[in-house]
Amino acid sequence: MRQFQFDYYNDFSLKTELTKIRLWCDSSVYSHIVFQIYSEQVDREKISHVCSIIESAMPQAEYFGCSTNGNIIGGEFSENDITIICTVFEYPSTKMLFRQYELSDQTADSVTGDILHLIDENHWVKAVELVTTIRGMSMTGFCENLSNSRADIQIFGGGAFASDINNEEACVFSKNGGISSGGVVFWLLGGEDLAIDSTYVTGWKPLGKMLHVTRSEGSRLYELDGAPAYDVYYKYLNIKNDAHFFNHSLEFPFFYKCHGISILRAPTASLDDGSLIMTSDIESDEYAQLAYGDPGTILESVREEGTRIRDFRPEIVQIFSCAARRSFWGNNEISKESKPFCGIAPTSGFYTSGEFLRTGKYLNQHNVTMVLVGMREGLADDIPKKTLEIDESEFTGKMALINRLANYINAAFRELEESAILDGLTKLYNRAEIQRRINERLLSGEKLSLIMIDIDNFKSVNDTYGHNEGDNVIIGLAKMLKDGISSRGNYASAGRWGGEEFMVLLPNDINSAIVAAGEMCSAFREINFPLAGHRTISVGVTEAKADDTLDKLLIRVDSALYDAKHNGKNRVVVV
Ligand code: GH3
Ligand code: MG
Ligand code: MG
Repeated sequence: MRQFQFDYYNDFSLKTELTKIRLWCDSSVYSHIVFQIYSEQVDREKISHVCSIIESAMPQAEYFGCSTNGNIIGGEFSENDITIICTVFEYPSTKMLFRQYELSDQTADSVTGDILHLIDENHWVKAVELVTTIRGMSMTGFCENLSNSRADIQIFGGGAFASDINNEEACVFSKNGGISSGGVVFWLLGGEDLAIDSTYVTGWKPLGKMLHVTRSEGSRLYELDGAPAYDVYYKYLNIKNDAHFFNHSLEFPFFYKCHGISILRAPTASLDDGSLIMTSDIESDEYAQLAYGDPGTILESVREEGTRIRDFRPEIVQIFSCAARRSFWGNNEISKESKPFCGIAPTSGFYTSGEFLRTGKYLNQHNVTMVLVGMREGLADDIPKKTLEIDESEFTGKMALINRLANYINAAFRELEESAILDGLTKLYNRAEIQRRINERLLSGEKLSLIMIDIDNFKSVNDTYGHNEGDNVIIGLAKMLKDGISSRGNYASAGRWGGEEFMVLLPNDINSAIVAAGEMCSAFREINFPLAGHRTISVGVTEAKADDTLDKLLIRVDSALYDAKHNGKNRVVVV
């Protein structure tokens, strides 16, 4: 496989490049020549003109392409409108097919049906690349249908766009299909010597709280946490519900769990009723979380996925990267995340309105994501490993500022979240939280024992040695409980029930709870407090029964503690 990449400046430069390719082909053995043409402008005349020059110079070549939000050539953002990538396949075993269809909500089923049929008929197919116009339609059905193809078929591609992201117009085109403003072009590739690997990079990180999807229908997201979905953008990001909504929200998509993986989903519009139109369907009762771009995390995942692509030893790398990433980095820095791949193989691609990638069974439409595809004919070569050259220089200016602010928000948010469930003095769970955990365990029907603890004659500690020493005793007991439960499984937890009373939840039956309670009594007696010396506790123990309600269970453990107090304290009573 051999690739030629160049920008279109004028007819003369194009013809010169085509001559070079023709000369190379004349002296070599090849099976297919494919041109990918990316145009930042939805300029039909210019696109047709470029296509016709290619067609007359190399009538045996195939070509297809789309309008884009910017092109990638040599791993870098191109300054030019039109970028042309010519890939020459050298192995006779490599096979391919091209199809172009008009695409709308009405035709999606028949289009995907046709492609599934083609894949079935042609066992050599290994991958499907697609470029498509997607603005204003939900691609959910389209993706679901294509997910039914053979499990080993890789599917990837990008949504056509335009240099101005507020421009709803976009187009796709191909040699046999002409230019379409509502269509899809498929490139089916395969053959025994063709190897393809695909993966993706995000680098966006979750920001703030989890939001519950309380109402959605298809791709229309009505409510998050019971309030209009748009409110999230206004409340947290001060993004107004106006003509610029799409522009401003693009860099803050939602993290959303879909088909078992975390996907970034951006809204394309916000409506007057506060609902958001998403690029794909969102299920009710799922959770979503705002996300922001973090340059450090992005480059870390470029390193991780880049290493994987490098080890695959591709001969070319294709990138389908979201337009939001371009506006996030800005034109001067955007190449930081794509240039490293050029150290591996010639890298090209474009900025999209949506990225497609099949992960496992499912074809997903992503947003704000960079999809990477490596291709190779023949076996992996064993020349020494090529290098991913990642620009490690520290981020400065806006990037550093965003990163620090987002870090602050996340740290402060975590503290707030914790303080809402923790007791201030002991840092054990507060009563509401331990009660919630007990109830959750009870409802799960799994084993559950409770240990309720009260310090004996605590009032006299306060009265004799002062409140401070009283606090020391409470903190001492809490620490002993923490140490004790850390050895009793992940589901054990301890909370402060009130004053000098504590509650411990164990995911075990009564026998191990009795052992634990005995250990707590002796461990506490061992502690020598500075003024109060050695103290004792009384303990009630019970286990959940089949017909228990939370109330019944709590009353029972309380009565066990009451019995311990009334039978002389410093003891364990089980009911
Ligand atoms: P018993 O052996 O029957 O449990 O008697 P007691 O003295 O331990 O129990 P009582 O309920 O009479 O007293 C509990 C005291 O705990 C009353 C309250 O002033 C004190 N207390 C509650 N919270 C705190 C706290 O956070 N710090 C301190 N130092 N004392 C507290
Ligand atoms: Mg008490
Ligand atoms: Mg007490």
